[in-house]
Amino acid sequence: MEDKSRGSEVDRASAVLARMAATGHVLGCGEGWFPLISELDRQLANLDPAYGLFRVGRVDGALVFDAKPSVPELAAQFSALIYVTARRASAVCEVCGGDGELRTIHGLAEVLCAAHQAAAERAESRRLVGRKPMGMVSDQVP
Ligand SMILES: [Zn+2]
Repeated sequence: MEDKSRGSEVDRASAVLARMAATGHVLGCGEGWFPLISELDRQLANLDPAYGLFRVGRVDGALVFDAKPSVPELAAQFSALIYVTARRASAVCEVCGGDGELRTIHGLAEVLCAAHQAAAERAESRRLVGRKPMGMVSDQVP
């Protein structure tokens, strides 16, 4: 007997991964969104077990879930469920799944909680410090 109610979020995301592997795609967002994605997958699979999933990722900080029902009659329900999930994702830290909001850190838009925003800013500034000083070392300077 299998207990389907248990298992980690990553295990549950594996159903999504398997569906995407069938079309040769990969999951393009952080683990904090996996629970939302797994739940959406279950909702869509309940409506249409044979639905096609072409892309899961983040574009400009927003969750993108490109799924197509096997029958066109379900398109409106699919759109509605995906819309609701994307709205929820806009307030969920993409790293840890905690309360987050859309932040832009050095030009990259992500939904992050305060702690992960701080971590991302520190990581980014370390990366900047590691580079050659801007304007001081350049092949273009005469
Ligand atoms: Zn976080």
